[in-house]
Parts: sequence; structure tokens; C-alpha cells
Amino acid sequence: MWYVSTRGMAPRVDFEGALFSGYAPDGGLFMPEKLPQLDRETLCRWSALSYPSLVMELCALFIGPELIPRDDLNDLIHQGFSRFRHREVVHLSRLRNGLNVLELWHGATYAFKDLSLCCTAQLLQYFLEKRKKHVTVVVGTSGDTGSAAIESVQGAKNVDIIVLLPKGHCTKIQELQMTTVWKENVRVFAVEGNSDELDKPIKAVFEDVAFVKKHNLMSLNSINWSRVLVQMAHHFFAYFQCVPSLDVHPLPPVEVVVPTGAAGNLAAGCIAQRMGLPIRLVTAVNCNDIIHRTVQHGDFSLSETIKPTLASAMDIQVPYNMERIFWLLSDCNSQVTRALMEQFERTQSVHLPKELQSKHSQVLSGPSLCSQVPRSCPDCWADPRNSLRDLSPGEKGDTLYPNEEE
Ligand SMILES: *Cc1c(COP(=O)(O)O)cnc(C)c1O
Repeated sequence: MWYVSTRGMAPRVDFEGALFSGYAPDGGLFMPEKLPQLDRETLCRWSALSYPSLVMELCALFIGPELIPRDDLNDLIHQGFSRFRHREVVHLSRLRNGLNVLELWHGATYAFKDLSLCCTAQLLQYFLEKRKKHVTVVVGTSGDTGSAAIESVQGAKNVDIIVLLPKGHCTKIQELQMTTVWKENVRVFAVEGNSDELDKPIKAVFEDVAFVKKHNLMSLNSINWSRVLVQMAHHFFAYFQCVPSLDVHPLPPVEVVVPTGAAGNLAAGCIAQRMGLPIRLVTAVNCNDIIHRTVQHGDFSLSETIKPTLASAMDIQVPYNMERIFWLLSDCNSQVTRALMEQFERTQSVHLPKELQSKHSQVLSGPSLCSQVPRSCPDCWADPRNSLRDLSPGEKGDTLYPNEEE
């Protein structure tokens, strides 16, 4: 499997190349050159798999046995999920009225980013071990990414991690998660400013190609293909759990509402859909609504400022994974994508061409939701008819600090 840049001006790379690159040298993001198409037989087979095995099958499709033999890959993935608190790793809770919630929060830091980072960190260490190399991961965070990235590589011998967190802008728990890991390879700094301001020096560091090369720096946010890849699995998992049977023609559609920040999860859903999974995607944003405006009106433009909300992981100005979606929806047209993104970088405002916008409304078919997360969550959580609080049988209640009794 080869990976090409969405902007079409960089040499293609294999999975290992994409994993270690972050941005492609032309400023684009790596995408698979060709998406495998899944037939009904494959989907039926996958529908019986556990979540980790589903991740394993997906990774095998996109990595290839010449890079990681299947047995090794299987061990890496299962090792990655070994610290999850739920035996299924990911669990679908059924609410009233046919609504379901996919519980993606059973990882060590409670962020859904644990799911993709724990696997990505395993893949990273596999290649580093094989090549006798060392990298330093540099992460800027508004909260979730920092904790999950630290958790995924803490104690790893070929990886150091440096995390910059915006002082006073993360939750107390997140700050503690980041600042109380006593491992030689973890360094955390609190910096003045919000997470967007913090991204600027980090971006500048990564633009200094010689510096990055000299110090073997890399990023672990969702520009990284590996994270998007692993995140596809929960779209498949949710689909299989929601449909009663795969014996009907055509396969029944399932609507997936995706809370969206940098659009990594949304991009993963779009790719899964292109591979033949019959899902409809609905984007959910808070008042930081660039994706909503893009999907509804083709208006991909920055708003003046970020408005802080309780859902800080969704308080994002520049949803960089939209570039992957533009590329997919323009039928892998790197010229169109490059023109769009370069104009966006120059003027911070683009109007999508008509044809591309109509594709958006076909793929992201539901209305996008633009609401206050805090208003709907407590109601849903408090309703005793919903079983969200329940953990799987046999588990005691969830505790904030999972290891405190050990
Ligand atoms: C990271 C995160 C998001 C945003 O996800 P993207 O893939 O960047 O769109 C939304 N909600 C929570 C809780 C998150 O941790």
C-alpha cells in the first residue's frame, strides 16, 4: 500500500514513511493511493469480530505484511489495548428511541484519543526497535491529546515526548494527568496563551526541516495517518452493532453523529464510507462552527476567534483533516485540493466550488448539528432510562483513577 500527498507534489511513501512524516513535504496530508473496496462477504466476516480484531484487520489492509507480518501486527494491536478498562474496549450503549452511544472513553485517560494513540505508539515502537532509532514526539494540546499521547509512550525506550499545555486552559484532571507522570522520557511544559497560540511555535519548529531531521522530531496529532486509520475501526464497529442483520439487500444505512474538532474522526468515517460501509455522517460542532458552515454552505473560512466552551477538544479554528475530505470528495484530485488549501492558507477563507460542495451534502448527508454540548449531555446522562452509567456486568463502578486500588 502506497500513500500519496493530498497536494500531489510529494513522492509517495509506504506506511512507515507516512507514520513518521506528519505533513507531507508539500504541506499536504498523506492518504492511501487506492482505497480497498470491501464486499458484503468481508463485511459479514468483520461483523463477528471483537473491536481489537477489527482494528487488526483494518491495519493489515493498510500496512501490508512486508512491513509488519500479520502475527506481529496482531500482538502489537492487542498489546496496545491491554490497559483499557472495558473488556470490549469500545462498547455500544442503547438509549431510548433507537439512539445509541458509542462509548469511546474506556482508555487510561478517558479520551477517545487513547484508542488510536495506543495503537499508533505500538506501531511507532515496532519500527524504531527494528531500525534502532529514537524519536522525540512534540505535542501541543488543549487537553485530551496531551494526556493520551503521554499515556501511549510513557516509559518507551525509543521515544521521548515533550508536551506543551496552555496554562489554565485545560481541565484540572487533564493537567494532573499530564503533570504527574514520573517517567524519564516525559517532559511537560505549561505555556502562556491558548492552544491556537501555542500551535504557532510548534508549527514553526516543524517547518524547520533541518532541525526536525537533526533531532528526529515528530508529531502525534491527527495529521498522522496512523491515527485516522485506527479511528476507522469504531465506525465499522458501531455499524455492525447497530444493524440487526447483514442479510438484506441493500445493506441498511446507519447514521453516525460525529463530534468534530480537527475532523480526524470525520475523515475516518468518510474513508470507511468510501470503502463500502453504508454509514451516513452527521457532523456535530459547538459554536466554533467552521465545519458546519463548510458542509452547509461551502464556507470554509476562519472565524475571528476561538470561543472557549466546555467541550474544549472541539474548540478548534482550523480543522486540518478537512483537507483529506476535500481530496476524497474531489475524487482524489490533488490539483483542486492544493488550490483550495493554498488559498485558505493565504486568505483564511475559501468558498468551495459548487460541484465539491454538492458532494459534501451527499456524503455528509444529515443536517450538521450546531448546538451547545453542555445543554444536551446532562439530560441524556441523568435519564435513568438510559444505561450510560452502566459498565459491563462484573465490573464495579467506574472510578476516576482506575489504578488507585491496585
Ligand atoms: C479530540 C476530540 C474531539 C475532536 O475530534 P476530531 O477527530 O479532532 O474531530 C471531540 N471530542 C473529544 C472529547 C475529543 O477528545
